[in-house]
Amino acid sequence: MADLNAAGAEQNSIGWRFDNTYSRLPDAFFAAAKPATVKAPRLVILNHQLAQKLGLDFNGLSPDAIASLFAGQDLPSGAKPIAQAYAGHQYGHFTMLGDGRAILLGEHRLPSGQLVDIQLKGAGQTQFSRRGDGRAALGPMLREYIISEAMFALGIPTTRSLAVVATGEPVYRQTAQKGAILTRVAASHIRFGTFEYLIARRDEANLRVLADYAIGRHYPELVNLPNRYLEFFRAVMERQAKLVAQWQLVGFIHGVMNTDNMAISGETIDYGPCAFMNAYHPDTVYSSIDSGGRYGYGNQPAITQWNLARFAESLLPLLAPQQDQAVALAAEALNEFPALHKQHWLAGMRAKLGLERIEAGDQELAESLLAWMQENEADFTNTFRDLSEAEYPTGDQYQDASFRAWHTQWQLRLSREERPNSSARTAMRALNPAVIPRNHRVEEALAAAEDHDDLSVFQRLLDAVTKPYELGSEAAAAAYRQPPSDESTYRTFCGT
Ligand code: AMP
Ligand code: MG
Repeated sequence: MADLNAAGAEQNSIGWRFDNTYSRLPDAFFAAAKPATVKAPRLVILNHQLAQKLGLDFNGLSPDAIASLFAGQDLPSGAKPIAQAYAGHQYGHFTMLGDGRAILLGEHRLPSGQLVDIQLKGAGQTQFSRRGDGRAALGPMLREYIISEAMFALGIPTTRSLAVVATGEPVYRQTAQKGAILTRVAASHIRFGTFEYLIARRDEANLRVLADYAIGRHYPELVNLPNRYLEFFRAVMERQAKLVAQWQLVGFIHGVMNTDNMAISGETIDYGPCAFMNAYHPDTVYSSIDSGGRYGYGNQPAITQWNLARFAESLLPLLAPQQDQAVALAAEALNEFPALHKQHWLAGMRAKLGLERIEAGDQELAESLLAWMQENEADFTNTFRDLSEAEYPTGDQYQDASFRAWHTQWQLRLSREERPNSSARTAMRALNPAVIPRNHRVEEALAAAEDHDDLSVFQRLLDAVTKPYELGSEAAAAAYRQPPSDESTYRTFCGT
């Protein structure tokens, strides 16, 4: 390893601007942490575009120095590593948790002035590791990298992935796997569960400190409102309602919507057993441990509301002096969720169908297309894209009578729009993706990286999914648009 002074001097030119506001909060919020020493860190991938957006320049660093940095071996100047405390409802059951395998290096100030968390995931044990090893495997970290970057390209709020390093050490799961560390960038890592942690400890003083901190960081427009805690709850609900609608509109299934995986910022966080649906069916579930389908595709809005109820419960002492008064306020706000979600979902569906005007029958039009898809096991992504491509979509599946009937109805509806159909289709092509991270393609890319140290398959897929609206060459389009012939046995696993 380079000597410390050299590393420090090299790092000064990177552009880090740490200002660690979270670690200045009271002790109850976190524990000091130290990334574990790892044997032979090796850079697997670095997100140059993201680095540039963050105002960071790694060009002056050798690959070894970059690997050492993102393995937490040479900490950036200004970093103050901590593990954050939180709790959460996991599959409905409350547990005290905390960062068991993630270490927050601190908050970096962007050129825009915004602060973002820089976190190492898989960097070793912390005070919250319980029986876990604090480590992560290469496959799941690359999985988070590619899916989070795909989500970003789809315009969906998400944490980002800056780098993955292999540690040169094995991690033991069902089998021995290659260890790795992901550098995650987030608006913050404050979760519903961070609030649940304090209320579980009956620490109302710190609960207020956390709420004020979260409002200041994510909802500064609310800071001076007299009823700011209730408005804060509403604002979080608004972002979550929109987020879950956005997931559904691209066929995304988060897979583990525990309250510790719900961010106050409204970003998608913690890519574990997530997956994109192929054939449309609201009951689609891929997660191996979600046998009841709690976190299935169609259940996601109801679960978001359930999670928001847990969040609201943890805010009760701040909402009103009397408990029953606070409960009434929270319940009233929470009851608005279904309509709020529906509004975002329907607006998104209208756009997917090229509709700008609002008409009463639009919901039915969208729902009857979904019903057709479900009955015919039609691919969710490709159906919308095919509708965007041509006057009449190409493919045998579109020859059946019920589809023709739906298409006629849609054309009739489009004829009442102000723009010509061709302009509607141009708009549709800018928001109905041609390329999503198909599960079998992701698996293939991860297998090449894990088994043969071959990142080329991953790089090609990353390139395709980060330009989701482009069909690319005919060969690429065929490769990336084709769903698997059968995915009935496909299962995803929690990202440990
Ligand atoms: P997740 O399923 O990744 O959201 O993690 C749920 C909880 O388990 C969090 O508190 C994690 O920090 C913790 N955890 C997950 N994997 C590990 C691990 N390998 N070692 C220690 N803690 C872990
Ligand atoms: Mg988590």
